[in-house]
Amino acid sequence: MQTKIVQAVEAHREAILASFSDLHAIPEWGFNEFKTAAYLQQRLEKAGINIKKYTETGFTADIVGSEDGPAIGLRGDIDALPYKNEAGETYYVHACGHDSHATMVLWTTLLLKELGLVKKGTFRAIFQPAEECLTGAREMIAAGAAASLDELYGVHIRPIQEARVGQASPALWHSASTVAEVTIHGQAAHGARPHLGTNAIDGAALAILGLNSIWVNPAQQWSVKVTKIIGGGTASNIIPDQAIFTLDMRAASNALMDELVRKVTAACEHGAAAVGGHAEVNIIGGVPAAEYDEEAVSYLRTAIEEIIGSKGLLPPIYTPGGEDFHQFKQADPKLKTAYMALGSDCTPGLHDPKMTFDREAILIGVKILTLAMAKRLGCQ
Ligand SMILES: [Zn+2]
Ligand SMILES: [Zn+2]
Repeated sequence: MQTKIVQAVEAHREAILASFSDLHAIPEWGFNEFKTAAYLQQRLEKAGINIKKYTETGFTADIVGSEDGPAIGLRGDIDALPYKNEAGETYYVHACGHDSHATMVLWTTLLLKELGLVKKGTFRAIFQPAEECLTGAREMIAAGAAASLDELYGVHIRPIQEARVGQASPALWHSASTVAEVTIHGQAAHGARPHLGTNAIDGAALAILGLNSIWVNPAQQWSVKVTKIIGGGTASNIIPDQAIFTLDMRAASNALMDELVRKVTAACEHGAAAVGGHAEVNIIGGVPAAEYDEEAVSYLRTAIEEIIGSKGLLPPIYTPGGEDFHQFKQADPKLKTAYMALGSDCTPGLHDPKMTFDREAILIGVKILTLAMAKRLGCQ
């Protein structure tokens, strides 16, 4: 079967690369992927594959086998990133490679259909909008796009420093990422009589000092950084009654993130209290850390080894980066997930508007994913 898949991918090489070029030319921001979704849907429908829309731009494509079996999902994100040019105008670029993921999931679906590889159960491709907004997965889940899935797989191309083209890891361990907005409340007063007020900026300064002295287990990856601060400013002779700052927190596991958030909250409350004010800590965004199923990871590992050999198989990769893919697992703890890190020689790096990568990685990705899915759906 492995030979059959490799030959089919090679036979469609030009068409696969053309799909990527087509998608690359229509980068669109989260929840606005109208052209992208229409392009993908048209390709799938032309091949006789049923699609179902769950959000304006998010949809699934199902292939049902003739025998009972598991429901296996493969998720590809489809959105691009916004940048500003020198004139201050916004433009969009596929700088995170989601056009390559959409191409891989599209062609895995087309090949599973063409080669008749879905024998048992159901294959479901999930084309997910707005990963970069970190809310696309949540919307798809709320609309029921992942309901009754047993397993879900994901993929991301990697920067050259992490994996070279021809290499892949079956487990890309994303960190939990949490964004908090902290408001320090004080009491306004005349600049000449500061003792009658409470300076919220002093409270913010002490809170920040406190959170830079926090420790959670240093053997695990974690960090907390101040990323924005606003305070006072109405007049320079008024003691400010409010200061607001945002925090970007990362942690290698969800338990570690819970501990970090508890300690950060305490540091902010105590810092504000030290000057007589109080702190309000609001979590305004974030994604959970990866929680993979060992068996699901092993299926990806086997497919990687069969396609690129054990020389190309990399150990698990740990990254401080977040991914909203993990919302699927968070929403359904029974769901078994695994996520492939695909070497692509991507330079200078993801999210750089000049990002480029070796397109050969797309073909390798299609081969691995098609083989992995086919094996889960009754082909040996
Ligand atoms: Zn990204
Ligand atoms: Zn990405």
